[in-house]
Amino acid sequence: MQLEGIKPDETTLVSVLSACTHLGALEQGQWIHAYIKKNNLIINFILGTTLIDMYMKCGYVENAVEVFDGMSEKAVSTWNAFIQGMALNGLVEESLGIFSDMKRCGVMPNEITFMGVLAACRHMGLVDEGKNHFNSMIQVHKLEPNVKHYGCMVDLLGRAGMLKEAEDLINSMPIEPDVATWGALLGACKKHGDKEMGERIGRNLIELHPDHDGFHVLLSNIFASKGNWDDVVGIRRAMMKDHINKTPGCSMIEAEGTIHEFTAGDKSHPRINEIDDMLDEMGKRLKAIGYAPNMDEFFLEIDEEEKETALFRHSEKLAVAFGLITIDSTMPIRIIKNLRICNDCHEAIKLVSRSFNREIVVRDRHRFHHFKEGFCSCRDYW
Ligand code: ZN
Ligand code: ZN
Repeated sequence: MQLEGIKPDETTLVSVLSACTHLGALEQGQWIHAYIKKNNLIINFILGTTLIDMYMKCGYVENAVEVFDGMSEKAVSTWNAFIQGMALNGLVEESLGIFSDMKRCGVMPNEITFMGVLAACRHMGLVDEGKNHFNSMIQVHKLEPNVKHYGCMVDLLGRAGMLKEAEDLINSMPIEPDVATWGALLGACKKHGDKEMGERIGRNLIELHPDHDGFHVLLSNIFASKGNWDDVVGIRRAMMKDHINKTPGCSMIEAEGTIHEFTAGDKSHPRINEIDDMLDEMGKRLKAIGYAPNMDEFFLEIDEEEKETALFRHSEKLAVAFGLITIDSTMPIRIIKNLRICNDCHEAIKLVSRSFNREIVVRDRHRFHHFKEGFCSCRDYW
């Protein structure tokens, strides 16, 4: 389009920016922002909101703030992107503060605003605050919570260990609970070791959704933690028989102007030898500072050593190794993962950030993790 000499309009820029957001292609997104400034294009509320969303989802909160402050015209969607973005980056107080500002400015929140607000509460386990917002959504703002709002509340209660209350909330829902809502409760049962409830719900779910990989894995983990190996093997067999595979983990990283994609155990990258060397180096350094692989969430059939190797070839570890090789040491390493980051990778990346003195930012399916000096911004609550 540029070669043809055609000037892009807001619609073009919004589309391209959305593509950058989806891929986490920060550099290209920044380039478009610079293009807008250079050509004195007007940042209307749609373009501004898209820019905020892009910066937030790339973990560049400061740039998002700059765009927000510079906007003369703000729509509800602008506030929503700002509130959700803060929550996504673990800035829970800021997120809730902006929600207050929004109301003070006389902007009426909608359903999406409350998704952001509840997500913020969930990230820090703010049960009372979450309940208040949920109630005010219904009573003050006369909004009907949808299945996602309920799912968020179930997750908030479940993670806090209020399993009974979470289950009661599901049973009181005026709409059909979805897979994610049940999944949140099942995950909470595993986290808090309620095997009785976990088994009851897990069996139910598998009956309702025989193709869902996550439920099989969670239930088998619950059995494993109880020592019911026969049941674990039973589930594993059922999964093989019905050809249910775990959704493969996939991590993306932008380096040298391209997006590189890694899946677990992937050997296809042209620079795999260098990556392998770096993985070895990572392994050595991490062991030296006390890293022990966390193999709780693993199937049993493979032996310990194989497990450890497989664990060390998770997609996010491959991406981190590649980032250490290719990304300038003054720049953070940014990774996007399609699934939730696993416990072991979370622990390992914390240690990498310390041992290699690098800042690493991982956006997983739920939120951002900013790793620095051995700590994560999520404070291990995710
Ligand atoms: Zn992992
Ligand atoms: Zn984290």
